[in-house]
Amino acid sequence: MTLTGPADVSRAAAAADSLQALDTIVPTCRACPRLVEWRELVGAEKRAAFRDETYWARPVPGFGDPQARILVVGLAPAAHGANRTGRMFTGDRSGDFLFAAMHRTGFASQATSTTRDDGLTLTDVRVTAPVRCAPPANDPTSDERRTCGPYLARELELVRPSVVVVLGAFGWQALLSTLAEQGWVVPKPRPRFGHGVEVVITHASLGSLTLLGCFHVSQQNTFTGRLTPAMLDAVLERARVLVGPRG
Ligand code: SF4
Repeated sequence: MTLTGPADVSRAAAAADSLQALDTIVPTCRACPRLVEWRELVGAEKRAAFRDETYWARPVPGFGDPQARILVVGLAPAAHGANRTGRMFTGDRSGDFLFAAMHRTGFASQATSTTRDDGLTLTDVRVTAPVRCAPPANDPTSDERRTCGPYLARELELVRPSVVVVLGAFGWQALLSTLAEQGWVVPKPRPRFGHGVEVVITHASLGSLTLLGCFHVSQQNTFTGRLTPAMLDAVLERARVLVGPRG
């Protein structure tokens, strides 16, 4: 089936009877014409440093432990990071910072994340996004975010995490909008993003979810010291405390 519009996305996400099925469907999606055009253009033009590589240039599925109790959520794939490698937060400085922290805190098998077959495995964590295609200027429209929402909703049903570490204010807003549209009870007024902020939201059949805010791992934050390795480690450790020991 070719997924060319919001109705197709809703149908395909609902029909995914396993995480593996969902992760197979997502990369086939062509429901947002502007994003399809952009992701493929970036993949054709390439950055000079990667000119010998074949870009993924498709939607990027979530990655990590299928039984994860913690989701780490950004906004969308980076043009020359995940849109190149095909794995969330893989192949750019943001991912270097994130996976180094996950390795220090025991959630990742290695500190680096370079390609989707580099052997990296995650324990109790899955990395995903409310928007699966790289958007121009890292800025998806509301319609694009809404169209992509059923994928994240289905992922939440299949993984059943109890904590979501949300990277950055844009990801926070996008996630709250998606969750509200997908049946989660989001407090009004909407909780504001902040580093270390914790908010519990509920769903009639899925239970509760604690959102844990964290400054984004972009170079704007990590090069300036706004987000330090110790700060990110502390957020991940807090997530571990929230989920408790694994039974
Ligand atoms: S953003 Fe989501 S819904 Fe839109 S084309 Fe990409 S995968 Fe499909």
